[in-house]
Amino acid sequence: MMSFARGSNGLKLETLAKLERVEQGSFGVALRRGFTILLLLEIRNVVVKVVRSIKNVVEELNMNEKNTEKLYKDFPKIFKEHILLRCGDGWFTLIYELCGVLQFNTDKNNYPQVVAEQIKEKFGGLRFYYTSEVVDCGENKEKYGHIRGAVGFAESMSYHICEMCGNAGKARGKCFLLTLCDECNKKY
Ligand SMILES: [Zn+2]
Repeated sequence: MMSFARGSNGLKLETLAKLERVEQGSFGVALRRGFTILLLLEIRNVVVKVVRSIKNVVEELNMNEKNTEKLYKDFPKIFKEHILLRCGDGWFTLIYELCGVLQFNTDKNNYPQVVAEQIKEKFGGLRFYYTSEVVDCGENKEKYGHIRGAVGFAESMSYHICEMCGNAGKARGKCFLLTLCDECNKKY
């Protein structure tokens, strides 16, 4: 009877220990699962944040409709082709002033007519690619030099102007270079 009781107690203890091990095991599994879920959520948040930030930058790296239309309207000869301006609105004034100088020299000083082919941001700077309606550049060689000078000056100025808002800026980022002011740099 005694041995049965001891046996019974021993069995009970063994079962309890087993249950405890199972519980501990389940707890461990649950903890690991919970941790994995938290980690996945965190990774998801980071991915969403990066995608949103890239989306914002890409969207804002095209000039808005109002500014684009103003350039088309005020400089119809330069924007004979309604090209997309693939840069932020912070450079609107810079591009507008450049077009003003170019068109003034064509209208008043008989410089060749510049036609914008591609305007975009590259490595944090403005790129203003153009063709001219005057094919023979022999006679106009010097005038082409002036056009190149004006375009080059605007392009070099872009490295000091925030592409998003137009305030003073500088190049940011390691592989994805953008010229931004301190405020816009926090945003993007
Ligand atoms: Zn800015």
